[in-house]
Amino acid sequence: MKINILRRITLAVAFLAVVVGLVLNAGTGTFSSFGWQAIAAICPLGVLESFVASRTIFPRALIVLVVTAVFVIIFGKAFCSWLCPVVPLRSLLRVKTWKALLKHKNGKEVNAQIRVNPTDISADIPTDVKTPPTCKHCSGCASQRTKLDSRHLILGGTLLSAAVFGFPVFCLICPIGLTFGTVILLWQLFGPNEVGLALLLYPALLVLELLVLRKWCVKFCPLGALLSLLSLPNRLFRPKVDSSQCLRMKGVDCSVCIDACPEEIDPHCQQDLHDCSKCGLCAEKCPASAISIPFRQKNSSKSVLP
Ligand code: SF4
Ligand code: SF4
Repeated sequence: MKINILRRITLAVAFLAVVVGLVLNAGTGTFSSFGWQAIAAICPLGVLESFVASRTIFPRALIVLVVTAVFVIIFGKAFCSWLCPVVPLRSLLRVKTWKALLKHKNGKEVNAQIRVNPTDISADIPTDVKTPPTCKHCSGCASQRTKLDSRHLILGGTLLSAAVFGFPVFCLICPIGLTFGTVILLWQLFGPNEVGLALLLYPALLVLELLVLRKWCVKFCPLGALLSLLSLPNRLFRPKVDSSQCLRMKGVDCSVCIDACPEEIDPHCQQDLHDCSKCGLCAEKCPASAISIPFRQKNSSKSVLP
């Protein structure tokens, strides 16, 4: 099964688990605090906000935070691609997605294609080159994305606002919270409780955030920032580029993997890979099958070069 399909199924199953929990009144909660009775996975950002807002460290929440940190060290930012409901929502709000769906319906090619001019390809380059391919889109790995960026500033602001106002302010506008808030309100429509204006306000705010802050995940999300910091020691499930197969080594200006990456990273750049959300898209789209990911079966090499 293609990794992209598996990812979509996981996203749908996780989302449905929350909805079923609500419908059956099973008390499983939402992604902000999902679990069963005393066992719960609480949002690590929410935990940190509660600590600074109340100026108290709750032992149970601290245990959850440590368990989350261990999970992130093993699986990196996999939550962002495999569980977060904001990813499919953002995709639904993109014109590009609808255009691709329409093209697909009309039987046209939708996969990213690189335009290779055979005369650009240097035939002399040996295929067993040991040097790693250089990043065409930066002036060297050292100048790639710094470990701290705009998301970390927002993470700082999130914690500061919780300390100043004494409650987790960001949770009021968190897109994940707004998504499940909307689901809860929709469900309450069938119950005895009044829903009121919130049913309009939550989805409107959510759509506005995702439309205005188009690059939410890579530029603004404080949870992504926190996961990115926690996943600095992560070394597992990283994509690996086979230099001997990469088209860049053959003189082709290929950037299919970068264009496919939802985290906007270049899988060739080791410094950025702590931000990898293990989606596997780079490996799936690479026209030369030069990228492998441990949990994904590698495609047989595609022939793109003459
Ligand atoms: S998509 Fe594949 S061939 Fe192209 S630059 Fe990335 S790893 Fe190399
Ligand atoms: S580097 Fe590859 S696996 Fe990692 S987030 Fe980007 S596209 Fe997904």
